[in-house]
Amino acid sequence: MLMKKPYKHLFFDLDRTLWDFDTSSIEAFHKIYNKFDLKSKGVDSVELFIKKYTYHNDILWNQYREGKLAKEILRGLRFAHTLEEFGINNKELAQQIGDYYVEVSPLLVHLFPNAHEVLAYLYPHYHLHIITNGFSEVQFTKLKSAKLDKYFNEIITSEEAGVKKPDPLIFSFAFNRTKARAGNSLMIGDDIGVDIVGARQIGMDQVLFDPDKKSSTDGATFYINDLIELKKFL
Ligand SMILES: [Mg+2]
Repeated sequence: MLMKKPYKHLFFDLDRTLWDFDTSSIEAFHKIYNKFDLKSKGVDSVELFIKKYTYHNDILWNQYREGKLAKEILRGLRFAHTLEEFGINNKELAQQIGDYYVEVSPLLVHLFPNAHEVLAYLYPHYHLHIITNGFSEVQFTKLKSAKLDKYFNEIITSEEAGVKKPDPLIFSFAFNRTKARAGNSLMIGDDIGVDIVGARQIGMDQVLFDPDKKSSTDGATFYINDLIELKKFL
């Protein structure tokens, strides 16, 4: 049996850890498909649109993460590239869709099971914080619309820190802000390369959240498939 460790600060990732990004995103794409009448413009199905978008967004998001692309450009460009797949060359439409997507998706609340229950359980016993690579205003909106903001002391975004996870600097930025130390903190996230590697590099224990059971534990301190499992060791 695992010993309970004296953690004081719990750092949660947001997207795909508390916020079910993929479910929310699919709902947003259905809204986009209807609102911008993409069927009549030659986009056969919303599923195909999502597939092409995902391909282009992954490429551009990596460039954004490496600091090679500004977020304002990323927002429109990922849709411009997607629309081009369907023979639509319309930068203005791409920008409109990009703005709408960023505006509407943080309002489409889908959380992973037991998110509220486990945060309400942890809240009296730990200092809870968020460390996210998402856009600041989008992440703040998500936390508010999901009524999660009440649980968290500090919301650390990569935009404020100037670097993104797994860069150690975002963690030192977070420690500075929260007065936490690696030794009394725990990082909870879904992304091995970003959350787990990042936390491990600076000597912080980690929880890998893997709801689809697609990873191995890969050396994370703890491994869970459902957020409720945090209660076992916290
Ligand atoms: Mg994540």
